[in-house]
Order: sequence, then C-alpha cells, then structure tokens
Amino acid sequence: MILIENKPLAPFTTFGIGGPARWFVEAVSEEEIAEAAAWAGEHSIALFVLGGGSNLLVSDAGFNGLVLHVGLRGIAMEEVPEDAGQRIYQVAAGEDWDRFVERTAQDNCAGVECLAGIPGTVGGTPVQNVGAYGQEVATAIDRVRAFDLQQHAFVEFAASDCGFAYRRSRFNSIDRGRYVVTRVDYRLTLGGVPTVRYADLQRALAENEKEGREPSLAEVAAVVRRVRQSKGMLMIDGDPDCRSAGSFFKNPVVAEEQLRRIAVVSAKEPPRFPAGPGTENQGCVKVPAAWLIEQAGFAKGYTLGAAAISSRHTLALTNRGAATASEVLALAAEITAAVEQRFAIQLEMEPVLLGF
Ligand SMILES: Cc1cc2nc3c(=O)[nH]c(=O)nc-3n(C[C@H](O)[C@H](O)[C@H](O)COP(=O)(O)OP(=O)(O)OC[C@H]3O[C@@H](n4cnc5c(N)ncnc54)[C@H](O)[C@@H]3O)c2cc1C
Repeated sequence: MILIENKPLAPFTTFGIGGPARWFVEAVSEEEIAEAAAWAGEHSIALFVLGGGSNLLVSDAGFNGLVLHVGLRGIAMEEVPEDAGQRIYQVAAGEDWDRFVERTAQDNCAGVECLAGIPGTVGGTPVQNVGAYGQEVATAIDRVRAFDLQQHAFVEFAASDCGFAYRRSRFNSIDRGRYVVTRVDYRLTLGGVPTVRYADLQRALAENEKEGREPSLAEVAAVVRRVRQSKGMLMIDGDPDCRSAGSFFKNPVVAEEQLRRIAVVSAKEPPRFPAGPGTENQGCVKVPAAWLIEQAGFAKGYTLGAAAISSRHTLALTNRGAATASEVLALAAEITAAVEQRFAIQLEMEPVLLGF
C-alpha cells in the first residue's frame, strides 16, 4: 500500500471542487483495503471510501483523514445452471459502471440498459441504489461483497439484505461508512427484453415501433445516453453542465394531502410518478424536485457566484469554472428555502458531503 499525503481531491470528483485529503491510498486488491483500514484504525484516523467521485461534494478545506480510493478491477461471468437464461457478472468495485453497462448490452443481457451513461464505479452503485429511466440496480443485484470496517472481515450480502429503497440502501443509511464494497454480483437476463417505460425513451424509440420491431438492448442504452446528453447528464469533456454530481436533490415522496396543497399553491396539477414499493410509500407519489424548484422561481442557468443550476436540467447544480463548495451549498440552501417556503416541502440532498 502506498500512502500519499495531502492529495488534492478535486480531480477525483465530477464537480471538480474541494481541498486535499490529509492521507490518500489507491487500493487495487482486497488485501490493500484491509491494510489501509488497519492503518487508519491504528492511528485513529477517519476513513472515507472514494469511488468515481460522481456523487460527492468535498469541502474547500478538504478532508482531515484517509481517503481510500477503490481501484479493484476485473469482471468474471458465469451462467446460472438452475436458472436458464440468467447470467451472473461478478464485477470488481473499481470497474467503471458505464463500461460495464455497455458490455452487458453487447452481450445481450438485460437488466441495466436504462442505467447507461451514469458515471462512477460499480462499487458505488449499491450505495444509493442507483436508478434512472425506470430501472434501479436493486432489481439486478444478486450479492454485494464488502470489507466490514468494524469487524475487520469480508462479508457478503444477498440483495434482500441490502435494505434497498429509493436512493437508499443499508450502505448509506444504518451502516453508513461501515463497509467498503469490493465486488458486486449482477444477475442479468440473457436475451431479455429492454425496459422502455419512460416517455422520453418511448419517443426516441418511436421509429422502432413504426418498423414493428423491439429495440435491442444496445439501442436502448444508446438512446438513454443521447437523452442524458441532451440534459447535460452525461460526462462529456468540455460540457460545463456535467460538472455536477448529477441530481442534487431527491424527488420528494408526498402524500395525497400534500399533493393537493402543491396543486392549490401553484394553481397547476403537479407531475407525479409512482412512489415505489414499501409500506411507508403507500398512498404516496413522487413529485419531480425539478418541477418544484421551477415553481419556486428558479430557472435553468440561475447563477450564484461560480455555482449555477445547469442550463439544461433544473435538478443539477454545476461548477461554472472555479466554484467553491461553499458557493454550491449556498445555492442549494437558497433553493431549499424557497421550495420550503412555497410548498412546505423540505428537499433532501442526494450527493454525499465530505469534510464539512
Ligand atoms: C452527470 C451525472 C449524472 C448522474 N446521474 C445519475 C442517475 O441518473 N442516477 C443515479 O442514481 N445517480 C446519478 N448520478 C450520481 C452518481 O453517478 C451515482 O450515485 C454513482 O453511483 C456514484 O458512484 P461513485 O463511484 O462515483 O461514488 P462516489 O461519488 O465516489 O461516492 C459516493 C458515495 O458512495 C460511497 N462509495 C463509493 N464507492 C464505494 C465502495 N466501493 N464501497 C463503499 N462505499 C462506496 C462513498 O463513500 C460515498 O459515500 C449522476 C452523477 C453525475 C455527475
């Protein structure tokens, strides 16, 4: 294990913001993860696990602890004999997520095609149960292997033990900071049909429908990337709208009564989506945070210092050059206060904060 001091973190994040890590290790094996964890424990130093830095806002002062950058690579594959048509991919946590999605589409394996174009690592995907365009990793994950920083041992979780819900898992809730994910097993369906639930995708794939043929998984993944790019939600060099952490706020889940209040206050029927499974979601719907933000008076491109709402997507806060973390948080606070004042809804932040 090579220990580096005062390593700048901004280049490791999609925001491009933040000060240095007091200590930094790039771990390329499970042994190095265990070694780094032991070192942090012996020296009573806080440890933070870094993947692709695409859901992260690092403070301007940086982080006074050890940043463990997960660089494990490798993909193994096996057919499931007792379940014909199912294939398990065992993917090391440091693999690039979008490259993995591309491979599964080429292999004609369904289950994650709508999650194309999402930046970050495979190890980051179970943490907030990554989702987009009608799919979530929760439905495709078979197992998660991780190092337990409390017990100093490797453990494995079945998907049903991961506590998956909307942008939530045990890894970002009850067990936040406890595990270093080292491998995620994805169970996909060989020759399965693509999920085309969202209107954006249906419109873009209308040509296929006219021709009377099912789009291929690769075509759906390509369309998802195109739609994402049109919204500045695909990492493209030189595109200022993607210097972000993706959606900065979660879509609030509201009860019928709140929905009626939003309609009265805005004098419009709010758009809504199903709230997803879970007893706490019964009788509730998800309202797009982007719509609430616009109704609270913010337009795309709204700027505060060098931080701005993306010019193509109201839900993404972006770094327009030399933005500081403080500027991003000031913009977020202004938006949150306006939405709360107008609709009595407290927006919840999606990215993880480090060093605040
Ligand atoms: C342009 C853009 C578009 C996006 N679109 C979407 C979207 O459509 N849907 C969506 O859900 N997200 C989206 N995101 C957010 C982000 O890409 C995902 O949350 C991604 O899975 C984060 O992975 P990461 O490796 O970059 O994690 P990081 O940002 O490095 O870390 C995020 C959190 O996960 C933890 N973590 C990371 N790796 C591990 C590991 N191996 N073990 C334990 N903990 C770990 C970190 O400690 C931290 O708490 C988008 C981001 C951007 C910039």
